[in-house]
Amino acid sequence: MASALQELRTRLVGELIEPQDPLYDEARAVWNGMIDLRPRAVVRAGAVTDIDPVLEAARHTGMPLAVRGGGHSIAGHGTAADGLVLDLGPLNGVDVDAANQLVTVGPGATLADVDRATAGHGLAVPLGVIIQTGVAGLTLGGGVGWLTAPTG
Ligand SMILES: Cc1cc2nc3c(=O)[nH]c(=O)nc-3n(C[C@H](O)[C@H](O)[C@H](O)COP(=O)(O)OP(=O)(O)OC[C@H]3O[C@@H](n4cnc5c(N)ncnc54)[C@H](O)[C@@H]3O)c2cc1C
Repeated sequence: MASALQELRTRLVGELIEPQDPLYDEARAVWNGMIDLRPRAVVRAGAVTDIDPVLEAARHTGMPLAVRGGGHSIAGHGTAADGLVLDLGPLNGVDVDAANQLVTVGPGATLADVDRATAGHGLAVPLGVIIQTGVAGLTLGGGVGWLTAPTG
């Protein structure tokens, strides 16, 4: 296991953080403070090229894998006990194509990142209310925002 993580570290642009690292407690924290799990390692992705090596390491070692965007899953799906966490938060770029009203986001972008980028164009995305939530998580399991039409 240790050698697999050591090899993974050499393939990353971003950081691999282990329990002995001073950044570990900060890196393992998710929004729901009741979820207090201790992963074997947290990878803070530095580029999209970090994704494949992390998936390969999880497959190779059999470690549970958690993918984290904004870290706001109430159930704590952005972390894993004794597992490998792929934290995509640093990949938070947002590109606005105002002419076509199209926004392209990195896998770790939050609603704040999107609002910041679109506001200057007079545009908004009806994604959510709390700006710290991740766009990927909102897209997969949320999407209720100020501009969402009421149902019923
Ligand atoms: C304080 C708070 C306020 C909220 N407000 C709203 C709201 O206003 N409207 C609303 O609709 N919902 C809201 N939610 C619910 C929110 O939409 C979900 O919790 C959402 O899943 C959070 O996404 P995240 O990326 O921040 O979380 P994470 O915990 O990072 O991820 C949630 C899930 O998505 C997966 N995931 C995240 N990023 C990626 C990625 N890039 N690629 C693949 N999988 C990924 C994770 O593996 C996990 O399973 C809120 C939740 C909280 C805690």
